[in-house]
Amino acid sequence: MAQTLWTYLPSAPGGALDVDREFYDRLARETARRSRVEQFVVPIRSGKAWPLRAGQICRIVVIEGPQVADFNCWNLHNPRERFWASRTKQLHRAHVTTGDRLWSTLPYLRPMCTVTNDTVSYGVDADGGRCHDLLGTRCDPYVNKLLTGQEFDYTCHSNLTRAILPYRLTELDVHDVLNIFQVTGLQDDRYFMKASPTRKGDFFEFFAEIDLLCAISTCPGGDLSIPICGPEAGDPLSVCRPLGVEVYQTDPALLRGWSSPSPSDYRGNHGMPRPEFRPT
Ligand SMILES: [Zn+2]
Repeated sequence: MAQTLWTYLPSAPGGALDVDREFYDRLARETARRSRVEQFVVPIRSGKAWPLRAGQICRIVVIEGPQVADFNCWNLHNPRERFWASRTKQLHRAHVTTGDRLWSTLPYLRPMCTVTNDTVSYGVDADGGRCHDLLGTRCDPYVNKLLTGQEFDYTCHSNLTRAILPYRLTELDVHDVLNIFQVTGLQDDRYFMKASPTRKGDFFEFFAEIDLLCAISTCPGGDLSIPICGPEAGDPLSVCRPLGVEVYQTDPALLRGWSSPSPSDYRGNHGMPRPEFRPT
């Protein structure tokens, strides 16, 4: 018997997941009305963290050639509130692009940022592959040791761990990532990856809805064109490239009508009565 198939409806007009595309498209389009306040390069096989204030725009830029970036973000003032990859996947899609948002963990559950521009525009390929992946997660030294028996200190998990140390965060704060510029999909229910299709000058741009601490790792797999396991495995060092990060301050006039979202207003206390003081 056929089962009911249903999904969330991200684009239902006026719904909780409805995004004011006109507002975000204008932010993306009117680049003359923003000023760059920060720009840096993240070298190969390393990580970097940076604050991004609510209302600012950030670009992750392909500056030399294809390279995957593993992205994490936290509420700048409360690292317990951090990006929730699996819920974002359900609310939007398994590969995010312009108009999609990254949502935070419980009990906060609010949009942390909104994707304003994605020049990759990969769409879907013949194998069902899509770009900017939420299906997978970061590479890490523990799984690496499990599968290869080798110790390697420059996985995305370790790169992110080193990147956030100056903000007094640890590897326990590193969480499931958005794999920017990474093409993935499922075939026979098994996860696959493909070489990153990006070209020099491509970028992935997002608008901060709340004050954020962002971090990326330049994946040691580089553009993922060289398998790291199996019969054709090789060292992907030759396909590792740096990435650029740019932070922009927007013209306040462009933000008119926008306000930083509040955390969820659920107050049910999970059905538990709140104890009250009663004198005996
Ligand atoms: Zn990685």
